[in-house]
Amino acid sequence: MAKDALPDTTDIRSVRFVYGDPSGVIRAKGTTGSQFAGKIHEGIGLTQAQNAVNLFEDLVHVDGMEPVGEVRIVPDVSTYTELPWLDRTASVICDLRQIDGSEWGGCTRTVLKRAIASAAQAGIEVFAAFENEFYVAEGTRENPVPFGDASCYSTAGLDRNSAMMNDMIDNLEAQGYIVEQAINEYGPGQLEIVIKYDEALKAADNQLKFRDTIRGTAEVQHGLMASFSPKPYADGVGSGTHLHFSLWSGKNNLLFNKDNPREISELGGHFIAGLLEHLPGLVALTCPSYVSYERLAPHAWAGSTIAWGYDNRECTVRVASSFRGREEQSINIELKASDSSANPHLALAGVIAAGLDGIARKLTPPAPAKHDPVLLSDEEKIASNVRPLPSSQLEALENLERDTVLMDALGDLMGRCVLATRRAENAKAEQNGLEWARAATFTVY
Ligand code: GLU
Ligand code: MG
Repeated sequence: MAKDALPDTTDIRSVRFVYGDPSGVIRAKGTTGSQFAGKIHEGIGLTQAQNAVNLFEDLVHVDGMEPVGEVRIVPDVSTYTELPWLDRTASVICDLRQIDGSEWGGCTRTVLKRAIASAAQAGIEVFAAFENEFYVAEGTRENPVPFGDASCYSTAGLDRNSAMMNDMIDNLEAQGYIVEQAINEYGPGQLEIVIKYDEALKAADNQLKFRDTIRGTAEVQHGLMASFSPKPYADGVGSGTHLHFSLWSGKNNLLFNKDNPREISELGGHFIAGLLEHLPGLVALTCPSYVSYERLAPHAWAGSTIAWGYDNRECTVRVASSFRGREEQSINIELKASDSSANPHLALAGVIAAGLDGIARKLTPPAPAKHDPVLLSDEEKIASNVRPLPSSQLEALENLERDTVLMDALGDLMGRCVLATRRAENAKAEQNGLEWARAATFTVY
């Protein structure tokens, strides 16, 4: 929808004012179609404390996010779409703003806007795509039963989920998204659907709409649960949400190396080096939940070490080979240490801040890993500077707290909020055990 065009809400009964909270949950308050126009400027009221509620629905104490003091949920009308799996219902992505309309430090979308502005100052426009894997299941979240199990990429698996996948594609396309891939993935009942990349802010907004669309289509139209948990089954492969991105200046892809199209540009190398340097804390934003660390194991194509490589699916940072005939257009970097328990705005803001730091300091990456990093010889590991990823949520949070580049990118209030809400999540999960946490995260959106 064009930036200033107002949607026709005459037939709409419910308009959701959607925002992604710092704990990764997609939340909304709403109004009716007839009231929508009047709420665009003033927004809908929300207690500041709501952003200190973590994914287990516990209100955590964060100074500046107490149940005293309000913010406004203010829509970005350009993101308005009708939700095809529901009757006369629409949603619009929102900023959380102060009552006078100024920026609020507790708004995840504002954090990403700041990171995008820093990139623009460095002459860089970031494009990105979140590539979601998810499971569909019957039963309950304590005892989910995989739906449509079949071999990886098998046509049988596609048959079993064809009706639902077609509905998912219809519902995404009806909202204006270009669906590029829809596949039957490795795990029992695991699928992957990919929509086309977009400018960074839109890509993160799209990720909220995407998760809502997949969940809603599975649940409302097919009576199934869709799980975006990074590790929904103890014995099954995890679900990644690989974060693909490219860096542009006008029509030039700054990752493209004109002299050697098979290798990353010098600037791309700096960005990768920044990512690798900050990964120990960055994963607290891109793989932020307690169960995230169950997924980041060797030989699961999720990445378990800090390493990069060309088309190396065991590296956390993979340079994805370009496509013949559109080499410059298609070369991109993939962060595999990324999952859907993340708030996409915070995850992408962290990636941008880390990469820009690499560019500002002209960091050079180590040698790309030519094999699975955990199988490299000791010498090769040193040359590729292979280091372990944090093995737990707490370790990642400690690294994040020490990382001044990432903490600055979050800002004071958001930084404290992420640390406090995630640490409370960790304490509760530790108290109740991994299987409790897995079930509690199975259908958290
Ligand atoms: N399921 C893997 C992950 O957790 C990714 C598999 C793939 O490369 O498609 O990231
Ligand atoms: Mg996949």
